[in-house]
Amino acid sequence: MIPWLGEEEAQAAAEAVRSGWVAQGPRVAEFERAFAEHLGVPHAVAVSSCTTALHLALIGAGVGPGDEVVVPSLSFVATANAVTYVGATPVFADVDPASGNLTAGTVGPLLTDRTKAVIAVDQGGVPVDLDAIRALVEPRGATVVEDAACAAGATYRGRPAGATAALAAYSFHPRKLLTTGEGGMLTCQDGELAARLRRLREHGMSVSAADRHAGGGAPLPETYDEIGFNYRMTDIQAAIGLVQLGKLPAMVRRRRELAARYREALGPLGERLVTDPAHGTGNFQSCWLLLPDDAPDRAEVLARLATAGISARRGIMASHLELPYKGTARVPLPATELITHRSVILPLYHSLTDEQQDRVIAALSEAVSR
Ligand SMILES: *Cc1c(COP(=O)(O)O)cnc(C)c1O
Repeated sequence: MIPWLGEEEAQAAAEAVRSGWVAQGPRVAEFERAFAEHLGVPHAVAVSSCTTALHLALIGAGVGPGDEVVVPSLSFVATANAVTYVGATPVFADVDPASGNLTAGTVGPLLTDRTKAVIAVDQGGVPVDLDAIRALVEPRGATVVEDAACAAGATYRGRPAGATAALAAYSFHPRKLLTTGEGGMLTCQDGELAARLRRLREHGMSVSAADRHAGGGAPLPETYDEIGFNYRMTDIQAAIGLVQLGKLPAMVRRRRELAARYREALGPLGERLVTDPAHGTGNFQSCWLLLPDDAPDRAEVLARLATAGISARRGIMASHLELPYKGTARVPLPATELITHRSVILPLYHSLTDEQQDRVIAALSEAVSR
């Protein structure tokens, strides 16, 4: 993934620096408003990363020690780690082999009396079927948090992905479409919850530093009513984010064009490429392809591609295979293991040219043949 950054972002960052206001301030507030408006949600809280957004989301959902949170193993490890941060236990569910996402069918059997939340991931920018999972989980009094780290620009049932979730967490790391270097956003529907999340990202402070400085008059005395964190975004990041948000539709358009071109040009192989689910449209943040059964080992395919000068990546990781979570899966995870072992992520970035893509297509067709 090569981020699509340009002179406009450089200018915006420089203006923030020149303004003298570099920590969380007016640009963060403006970015939050713009992001909330883009999604059509009432509240957006900017934070330092999606990982910290997930941590705050779980606190907001009341998850704590002794609780269980169902998560896909097939995700960046931060999804499971956030559960561990609050002292709860991640319970790994399998995914649908076509989308790489949780389904009501994979989540259902893992729900127990201790299930306090489910983290539904929009893996690689493919929208998860949130409604089906909510219908199962919410009547039990548990919360569904959407890990929309990859999903800016994706849509679910005609709305931006994450817009309908009780809590949704986005990432602005350079491996995602929209980037601020590091950064994240937490969105929610409830005003009181949003106010608490704003306090939690800033040491639990009752009056934000930005409001205190902007207030004029006598400074309001602040209190620290619960233990918070320093999970703030800076105004330099937000300035970049505002420019990037304006470019998001163009980013998604180009990525979808490139993905469609891969699908067409790869022929039968292209049918194994991740695609839009029935309930929405993806942003092709990760354009992954499941290798055919008769293709060589994934390592061999990647090595052949590297020899041809193509840098493809191994598929999405599976958390239950990593040391901290090894042996903790309660059920077999066959689709997760298939995708993590037998998929490759194809080069796809905004500035990829048709000629470069043609080289990938030729090298890939060669690399998968025995
Ligand atoms: C990238 C990613 C994260 C972590 O995002 P950061 O902003 O780097 O903390 C979490 N969940 C998923 C699914 C991701 O892809």
